[in-house]
Amino acid sequence: LQRRQAALRDQPGQLRDGRLVGLWANIGRPAEARLAREYGAEGIGLFRTEFLFLDRSAPPDEDEQYTAYCAVLDELPGKPVVIRTLDIGGDKPLPYLPLSPEANPFLGVRGLRLSMQRPDLFQIQLRALLRAAFRGDIWIMLPMVATPADLAWARAQLVEAAAALAAAGVDHRPDPPLGVMIETPAAAVLADQLARDAAFFSIGSNDLAQYTLAVDRGHPTLAARYPSNDSSVWRMIDLAARAAQQAGIPIGICGELGGEPDAAPALVGLGLHELSMAPARIPAVKERLLQTSWAEAQAAAARALAGWREA
Ligand code: PEP
Ligand code: MG
Repeated sequence: LQRRQAALRDQPGQLRDGRLVGLWANIGRPAEARLAREYGAEGIGLFRTEFLFLDRSAPPDEDEQYTAYCAVLDELPGKPVVIRTLDIGGDKPLPYLPLSPEANPFLGVRGLRLSMQRPDLFQIQLRALLRAAFRGDIWIMLPMVATPADLAWARAQLVEAAAALAAAGVDHRPDPPLGVMIETPAAAVLADQLARDAAFFSIGSNDLAQYTLAVDRGHPTLAARYPSNDSSVWRMIDLAARAAQQAGIPIGICGELGGEPDAAPALVGLGLHELSMAPARIPAVKERLLQTSWAEAQAAAARALAGWREA
């Protein structure tokens, strides 16, 4: 069994008939990058950077962030590492970041919207990311994008951060891939417009389901009736996948749905290039894909769009 597991770990994610599917890992701390490698992750599809900001009285400075990002690169040499900018909101108050109380924090200042409110913090994070991108294959990912104007704002911020580093003579890569999470219905619906200026998409199915179905993602009783594999969510994913294909940019998923073996064939059938998940879920998803042909994946996608709960 162990030999089978080691052999599985060392082969790339692919369908039975050879179509390659990147199997990447989600991590929340640099130390988890090692686990990702041990489970055979071909990249990091989501590095949540919230850990740097939580449980402390002052925000992390540029060097501390740079060190954390480089630690992940060092663990997975040569592999792509998608780092998400700070994704926090009114539901998780930070002492150094006073936010006005909100009646609906999930519909309020969270993700990129918080960065818009605190561009000083965003600049520090972007500078750290651009410096780390000089050392390895870093992709920068924006959470909670709703409109093309959100992306344009972030793009201008990135240009500003690169200019500051250039002026100071600091080693950096000015133009790493800048991508967006598709986790609001607006982003899915306007994916064709976002794709003009985004280098990649990643489906945030946890929030995309929450906002599409209008059901709190942690709701104790409604999840069974409104699951994140509802056909409404699949249709949102399909919109983004078609836009990505049209624009020729890669699209992946980093929400929980991406780590479900039962969802994997349909995700690939819709045209996703990469599935990112908790490291321990990689082997089961890999096994499932190895049993699936491209024709079967496409059939699974068609069923998902039609509504696969026939009962
Ligand atoms: C998501 O929303 O699917 C996602 C991956 O981000 P998070 O779970 O951190 O909100
Ligand atoms: Mg999210």
